[in-house]
Amino acid sequence: MSVIDDISSQRDISLEQLRFILANKDEAFLKALFDAARQQCLDVYGNRVFMRGLIELSSYCRNDCLYCGLRRSNEAATRYRLTPEQIMQCCEQGHKLGFRTFVLQGGEDGWFTDERLVPLIADIRRSFPDCAITLSLGERSKESYQRLFDAGANRYLLRHETATPEHYSLLHPAEMSFTNRMECLNNLKAIGYQVGCGFMVGSPHQTVDMLHRDLQFIRSFQPQMVGIGPFIPASGTPFASQKAGSADVTLRLLSIIRLIHSRVLLPATTALGTILPNGREMGILAGANVVMPNLSPKEHRKDYNIYDNKICTGDEAAECRACLDGRIRSTGSQLVVDRGDYRSE
Ligand code: SAH
Repeated sequence: MSVIDDISSQRDISLEQLRFILANKDEAFLKALFDAARQQCLDVYGNRVFMRGLIELSSYCRNDCLYCGLRRSNEAATRYRLTPEQIMQCCEQGHKLGFRTFVLQGGEDGWFTDERLVPLIADIRRSFPDCAITLSLGERSKESYQRLFDAGANRYLLRHETATPEHYSLLHPAEMSFTNRMECLNNLKAIGYQVGCGFMVGSPHQTVDMLHRDLQFIRSFQPQMVGIGPFIPASGTPFASQKAGSADVTLRLLSIIRLIHSRVLLPATTALGTILPNGREMGILAGANVVMPNLSPKEHRKDYNIYDNKICTGDEAAECRACLDGRIRSTGSQLVVDRGDYRSE
């Protein structure tokens, strides 16, 4: 399987190689691709899978991304916002369940000013000194990112969504810009966050050339984390009747990302688990090593609807933890109680 060896030894992939892999229908080839990626992951991280407890703190959003169910123009969306007390309770429950990373994610909600976030982050930092705090709160100023970092946040997830500027403008309203997205990512890195970028697989207008550019961006940016998952149509959005991205392509891309960036922390996402019942297990077998179960209060789960039919919206955090435990064990890996930091060497 020389193309697989070439990609792993070069830590690079050409457009032709990408086309070849995405078009390949040979089961044995696919297995070899997944196995090579998984082996790469085992070599760096062992068979340990890290969990991140996702706390979806707000479904309010000032942005109008065409793909997202939380976009401000979606009048059918139910809006909620967790109180700082509720967020602390999610962390407490999560810590008891063995989570050592909390991911605070939300729409771009103006209520969460620095004045409100700084004490909240400082409180989590003080109460859970053994945990990593990850933020996923969208685009903010460099000063704001710096304040949140100084308050105790360690990591930031901001998917670049697409590395092709023209594609970016087909997925976002005119007031959002590719340049600003890139500037945010660079600022986060310069401040010292462990940074996660990423994109949706099969988003409207996406081509193989664009995916190739996404992979080149990952190579040059060298993020600590990369989040990819299939695009899933969300009702109430302009893309509601577009077709979903494919689980198969997502799995192939997970493997390629592992091969070109062997140390990256790579989640098997909930979106992958949504379009394919054993998608997260397949993701682990294709080279992923992170899962992000939900720690949000059960009564709000169904209202963080970035896309339709999201799984696990009716489960308690403990149930998600137990269910994932079995799923991960079935792959030969194990969920661990660990911050799961990036291994630079
Ligand atoms: N407001 C934050 C969090 C956004 S939700 C931010 O801007 O970063 C996290 C990710 O979910 C997004 O970056 C996007 O890539 C993904 N997402 C949004 N809508 C989606 C959809 N319809 N299908 C699949 N993924 C989606």
